[in-house]
Amino acid sequence: MIFAANFKTNHTRASTQAYVEALEERLATKRPEDRVYLFPPATALDRYKGSFTVGAQNAYPTRNGAVTGEIGVEQLEEFGIKTLLIGHSERRELLQESQTRVAEKFCYFQSLGFEIIYCIGEPLEVREAGEEAVMAHLLGQFEGIDITYDNLIIAYEPIWAIGTGRSATTEEIHTTHQALKQHLARPLLYGGSVKPANIQEIGAIEGVDGVLVGSASLDVERFSQMILA
Ligand code: PEP
Repeated sequence: MIFAANFKTNHTRASTQAYVEALEERLATKRPEDRVYLFPPATALDRYKGSFTVGAQNAYPTRNGAVTGEIGVEQLEEFGIKTLLIGHSERRELLQESQTRVAEKFCYFQSLGFEIIYCIGEPLEVREAGEEAVMAHLLGQFEGIDITYDNLIIAYEPIWAIGTGRSATTEEIHTTHQALKQHLARPLLYGGSVKPANIQEIGAIEGVDGVLVGSASLDVERFSQMILA
């Protein structure tokens, strides 16, 4: 399984350092085939060493230049970072990243060989319109994206399940993952209120290759508990 922790705008450099040390101790007993990713905020990026991969939550598709408030490849290279989250619903919604911008970013980082965790997900009104509408929405989020890229992981994250405490049901995850798998040959993660209480149920669903975790990843004990469950 893949376990990815998205800290979003949480944790500092100091608390990330402490987190990483505590996590590494706990990962001593992780299953060798499991892969762990951490996405701290940009200010906490560093050359952390351990049995996990550190990625950036965002970067601008440039090496360097005049893009106030953004980081580019030069800043990622300083810490040896070659993994990036792209298309998270919070960036699509709060920061108005259009599909065109998301696809441009994807193509740029793909051309540099970055490992990309690419997020897709539908809002509640689309979910309520039924599975067909959900699939049309999700496939639309692959516009301009090379889904055959071999350094790609997809994360299906229904927006209504993110940070709400309400995960999608086992049935909803199963149905949507099975439908997505007909179009994808890459690992497919589920994200949306994954926590220690539901990790075993979600991890056991056919077609779930891992999880992307927000809130429940902020505490190293809870995140490790999920990995070692
Ligand atoms: C996320 O935003 O990627 C996420 C899955 O958040 P949460 O686990 O808090 O729902």
